[in-house]
Formats: sequence, structure tokens, C-alpha cells
Amino acid sequence: MLDNLGNLERTHSCGALRAEHVGQTVVLMGWVARRRDFGPLTFFDLRDRDGITQVVFNEETARAAHAKAKQPRGEYVIAITGEVVSRAEGQRNPKIATGEVEVQARELLILNDARTTPFQLEVAANETLAAEDLRLKYRYLDLRRPQLQANLRMRHRMLSEIHRYMDEQGFTEIETPIMIKSTPEGARDYVVPSRTFPGKFYALPQSPQLFKQLCMIAGLDKYYQIARCFRDEDLRADRQPEFSQLDVEMSFPTLERIYALVEGYFARVFKATIGVELPTPFPRLSYAEAMRRYGSDKPDLRFGMELQDLAPALAGMDFPPFASALAGGGEVKGFVVKGGAAMSRKTLDELQEHAKRYGAGALAWIKLGDEVSSSLLKALGEETIKRMVEVAGADITDAVLIVAGRAKTVAASLGALRVEVAKREKLIPENTYAPLWVTEFPMFEYDEEGDRYYAMHHPFTSALDEDLPLLERAVEGGETKLLGQLRAKAYDTVINGVEVAGGSIRIHRRDVQRLIFKALGMTEETARERFGFFLDALEFGTPPHGGIASGIERTMMVLANTENIRDVMAFPKTASAADLMIDAPGAVDPHMLEDLHIRVDEA
Ligand code: ASP
Repeated sequence: MLDNLGNLERTHSCGALRAEHVGQTVVLMGWVARRRDFGPLTFFDLRDRDGITQVVFNEETARAAHAKAKQPRGEYVIAITGEVVSRAEGQRNPKIATGEVEVQARELLILNDARTTPFQLEVAANETLAAEDLRLKYRYLDLRRPQLQANLRMRHRMLSEIHRYMDEQGFTEIETPIMIKSTPEGARDYVVPSRTFPGKFYALPQSPQLFKQLCMIAGLDKYYQIARCFRDEDLRADRQPEFSQLDVEMSFPTLERIYALVEGYFARVFKATIGVELPTPFPRLSYAEAMRRYGSDKPDLRFGMELQDLAPALAGMDFPPFASALAGGGEVKGFVVKGGAAMSRKTLDELQEHAKRYGAGALAWIKLGDEVSSSLLKALGEETIKRMVEVAGADITDAVLIVAGRAKTVAASLGALRVEVAKREKLIPENTYAPLWVTEFPMFEYDEEGDRYYAMHHPFTSALDEDLPLLERAVEGGETKLLGQLRAKAYDTVINGVEVAGGSIRIHRRDVQRLIFKALGMTEETARERFGFFLDALEFGTPPHGGIASGIERTMMVLANTENIRDVMAFPKTASAADLMIDAPGAVDPHMLEDLHIRVDEA
């Protein structure tokens, strides 16, 4: 028989009681995290979102309650009334905030029972959690874990700080529609069939990009929104099909104004959530410099290990892989691993595999120490190796890892390797945050397969003023290749190697927007068909404007120090975009399909 709660009110949460409460009569409610029976004494760990309190049922002083305390098992929901007492010396638990006291229970209400959970909720630090699929199926149980609850509370603190900050900065929160027409952000759209327009579909927004620009055309001046975005792309560890971003747009902005706004934003959020003071202003690196020095457009600056051009050490050598890379306009680069002389052959083999995954043909290495050993010794000879070590700046206890090939491949593989090695060799300082701006992204990226240029950010991004003449020449003068040289007024905020925000100054002139669409291979008709409403709007006095979007989950991952995006959202989906708890996506009633004018081809 279960008890009714009646009018009983909680007096404290399960994380609240301290030595100062000793002697008070309290009412606690929560879940039974653990029960231990010692004859006349029964102990419960009672848990709620705030913490855990030890509750004791003593046969001598509370006979009825002690007898009843035999019933509740793990995850039963109970209420107890009792007196706070000091724990005896030696029985205190410094690991929990309430560890100095316990509650001597007088009465017990069993408010609800619970089935045996399909996995253990509490795991010790050295144990692994149950399989994630199982935890996702019973997400509401997994969410009882204090770590996930702490993450969600941190997320709430972040969101409420955003509203405060953006309000102080004079921004207006404006909600844009979820059912729209496809926006061009490069990913696939999720679509919703229309009942009233047979064969037509809405698309869920990949971002509110055009709406926020239209807000500027409407004269709203400063817009923000915590926007839910939907992207049907291949999922990776840091992606979910639906996610949230702080979406921002402002009129008449300078780049400096946007940088200052965003730096202020991150500083506020870091302070409010984890108490860290982020130093501002953030350093800035152009895209070209970031690629050259770190092989990445989102470099992790918590550690050095910059890429070094080793070509100056290689004059006159004829080792085919290096010589042909250099002769073909490619590169030979490497970086120093501090203390890397001690790396084993096995480690080097594993790193080789890692580099190959990012396109490297091979990974060459030099290990220093009492005796120099190197995969290149035979091919290059001692003298050249010595010069390479010098150019790389390696010390007697270090190693140098080297890749040759096309600049793109060298950057991708060494950039990835730099991070991998830093993780393996524990070269990344803990509790350190290294924010920066990456600026001047290329406007376009050439896609060899499709033999065409794509917008690297999106097609509404404006070029650097000094590069605009190149755009004319490329589009109107037929010098298409120049598109590859155009630099954008686009910027990303990167913290600890994670791209936490990205945005741009937009095109506000109809003639420039036309050139960009043309550069992307769109005819006037296609452009009109897809963006007619926007092209029209551009003709009615569009102010210069620009903005940015910052991923809430990405930022939360940095704040909560996790590499799993599912740790920072309440009800995430799997890597194949399924919700295992509600079993979505699911079939719909055939009548619904009929209403929607849809026939499903099962094959
Ligand atoms: N709409 C862009 C995005 O979601 C951000 C921006 O340009 O403001 O990535």
C-alpha cells in the first residue's frame, strides 16, 4: 500500500542539511539511492536534485518506521520526518555536502514504488556507465544522475545569463518561424509535408539566417534569439539533428563592435557558469595563419606544438616523397613533441594510422635522445636530419613528426595529429581556456568533384572591401579561379579547439548579392525562385548588417568538459538521429498520409 502525500511539505532538500541544523525536525522527500540493513539500524541514502542525505531508521526509537523501512528498494519515492543529528566521529562523509549529519527518521511515507532499473544509476568513478543506447531508452532514469542534472542546471544558468546580457546590450528577442522554406546552409533540410498545398513542403530552419537579416531590413536594429535549428547531416560526436544557438544580428556594425559584443558574451557566460574569468580581447588569427601554424581553422591554443615548415632544411635532397611534394607546390611540415623521444614504436605506428585517416600518405618521425633514430635516416642521411631537427626547434628529449604532400593534406593530417598527440601525451593543461578569433575566412571553397565553388560560410557573407574588385573580375570577367582568393568578412570564435561561434558581415547590396549567386553557379531564375523574397527586400533600403550564431551545446561541452554532446541536452538523439525513448521517427496513420497526399514506396 502506498501512502498519500497529503499536506506534508518538504522543509529541506536532500543537499541542504549541515551541522548547524542539528536538533531540528525536518521533512525530506526524494528517491532511495541505496539501502543498507544492519539489524536494528537501517540506513537510506535519500537523493533529490540537490544531493544526498543519510537517513537512519532505529528499531529502538522508531519501531514502526524501522519495520516499514524494510519495504522501499532502490528508486522508491519516499518522504521522511525526523531529527537532524550529528554523525559520530569517524562516520562522517567528507565526500558529500551533507556528510556531517544524518536524519534520525521518525516517520516514513512510501509515496511510490519503482521497478528494478534496467541499469545501475550510480557508478563509482572507476566503473563505466551502462551502454548508451540503454541509457537513452530510459533517458529519464539516466537524467537522475547528478552529473547530467548539474549539466542541465548549468545550461539553464547559461541561457538565463544570455537573456540578461543581450537585454543589457539593447537587443530584442524575436522568435522566427519553424516552418519555413529551405535555407541554404549546406546541409540537408528536414521537411514537413503540407496538407493544404499538395506536393509542397515546409522546411525546418537550419538557422534563422534570412529571417534575422529581414529583421534588419525591417529596422529592428538588434535581434537575438535562442534558436532551435535542424540539420539533416551525417552526425558526429559533436552534432545533433536539432540543436540550439544564440542567434544574433545587428545593423550598422563594425567588426570591432561584433567582436566586443561576443567577447563580452563569452566572458559573462564563463563567469556565470564555471566562475572563470576569460581574458578579453581574444587574440585573432587569420584563417591563413591558423592553417599555416596549426593546420586547423579551429586551433586549440592551450598548447604550442606549432607546425614548422621543414623545406628550408631539405634543399638539395632527392627523397622522392619529399622532393615531389615540394616540386608540385606542396609542403613538408612537422611539429615537435616535447618529451617525445620516449614514444614507443607502437605509439608511432598508431599515430601513423591516425595521420593516414586524415589523408597523409605516411608519417615520418625523428626521435632524439642519446642516439637519434628516424624513419628517414636511410633516405636523408644524418646531416639533413640534423638540419630538420634544428629548423623544427626540437630538443634532446623531443621527437619530430613529419608529413609531406599537398598543403591541404599536410594541414589536415598534422592539425589532427597535433591534437591527438597532445591528448595522448597529456600535454593539455587542465582548467585552462584559450579563446581566439579566426578571421578572414575564404569566401569560397572549390569542390573538385562537382567542379564548382561553394560558399564557405553562406552566400550572404560579404567579402573584404579590398577583395570586392576580384569578385567583379571573377564573375563578370570570367577569371573564375580568382574566387579561391577572395577573403570574407567572416569570423569564428574558437575555444580550446572547439568552434563555439561563427558569423559574418552580410551583403546588403542587391548588385553584390547578385554577383555572389552568379559565382555560386546560380542563374537569375534559380536565385529568384529560391530567394526572390529576399532579393526583393534588398531593394528597399537594406542597412549594412552582420551577426553571428553561437552553438549552445558546443559551448556547454566546453563548460561541462565533456566530448559527448548528449551530456549537455535533456533528450538527445542517437548518431542515426533516432530517439530511442519515444521511438522516433515512427510510422504515421495511413489516413494522415492520404491527407498529406503522400504515398510511401516501401521498397
Ligand atoms: N547562420 C549562421 C549559422 O547558423 C551564423 C551566422 O552567419 O550568423 O551558422
